[in-house]
Amino acid sequence: MTERIIPIADARYQARIPLVSADTPAATGLLTDRRGRRLHDLRISVTDRCNFRCTYCMPKTVFDRDYAFLPQSSLLSFEEIERVVRAFIAHGVEKVRLTGGEPLLRRNVERLVERLASLRTAAGEPLDLTLTTNASLLARKASALRDAGLRRVTVSLDALDDAVFRQMNDVDFPVADVLAGIEAADAVGLRPLKINMVVRKGVNDHEIVPMARHFRNTGHIVRFIEFMDVGASNGWSMTDVLPSAEVVRRIHDAFPVEQADPNYHGEVAERWRYADGAGEIGVISSVTQPFCGECTRARLSTEGRVYTCLFADSGHDLRALLRGGSDDRTIEAAISTIWHGRDDRYSELRSAETVGLRKIEMSYIGG
Ligand code: SAM
Repeated sequence: MTERIIPIADARYQARIPLVSADTPAATGLLTDRRGRRLHDLRISVTDRCNFRCTYCMPKTVFDRDYAFLPQSSLLSFEEIERVVRAFIAHGVEKVRLTGGEPLLRRNVERLVERLASLRTAAGEPLDLTLTTNASLLARKASALRDAGLRRVTVSLDALDDAVFRQMNDVDFPVADVLAGIEAADAVGLRPLKINMVVRKGVNDHEIVPMARHFRNTGHIVRFIEFMDVGASNGWSMTDVLPSAEVVRRIHDAFPVEQADPNYHGEVAERWRYADGAGEIGVISSVTQPFCGECTRARLSTEGRVYTCLFADSGHDLRALLRGGSDDRTIEAAISTIWHGRDDRYSELRSAETVGLRKIEMSYIGG
């Protein structure tokens, strides 16, 4: 009998309603957690559904026809998301990424983009607003997203070899359609694009150099991501991880690279520049070089739970406050309480024991 894992049906209901004290000071934009980390960016999962079944993220064995995705009524509305984002901005957030699930599956997502693009940070600047997508609908939506105010986009693509890619997305989706989405986004000015490739040793690591070669001289930045033990369903093992140092070594052998400075404090990807001026790549090494100490990211799940770590096992139910009639000041105070209490640093503590702990699935919490 195959083992059935029911990863979030119960876990997602485990969320504390934030306790807000009446004397919580007003937001100053300078919130820090118990380890002195600022709050700078917010990732928002706008849907827990995806049309891909990537074997390392939403494997078919779990996310099958019987899987209970969230009902529409559970999802935060665009108005609710905007309210939450305003509160996060009051606490200093400047960067917002829409994700999922597959964000372009959320109906009229461009209207949400439009709302968020009109917001201003404390310094009076527009948000650094971006979106991560599998690009299956990008060719169709690129120009509407750009018109709505989206600045940039990150596309996930795990291989250029069509057979390898189809096998990894597990819905037989062709590489050519992702490349068409990338081209469409580029053509309407959503650049530079970032291209995320999750590297699984023995599955697609032979595609590292071809990916680098393909995107050199395009202005797009390929980011090679170490396979992580997110969620409880992807069968992660350390033996599947190809360390980023090895990724860089292989690329360097083909096209010499030199390390570049981070663009800003807390940047997740380590940057490497081609010595011949053909552009740059990034590596994201959350397994071999955890960056918890610099993590300035909060996550808002599809149904309005706030999580302070990708590897969390429970969240904070902001939706209960939003739908319970709380005013903006209370929402801000709740965020303040959540962030002040934050002490997590999962990737620094990762071990054989922690891998088996129950964690929320990435499609729900937002990748
Ligand atoms: N559907 C969108 C997409 O495909 O980009 C957005 C959601 S997806 C969860 C966001 C990113 O997380 C993708 O680039 C995906 O490859 C990455 N991801 C998912 N599971 C991962 C894992 N176990 N380790 C590393 N990255 C992972």
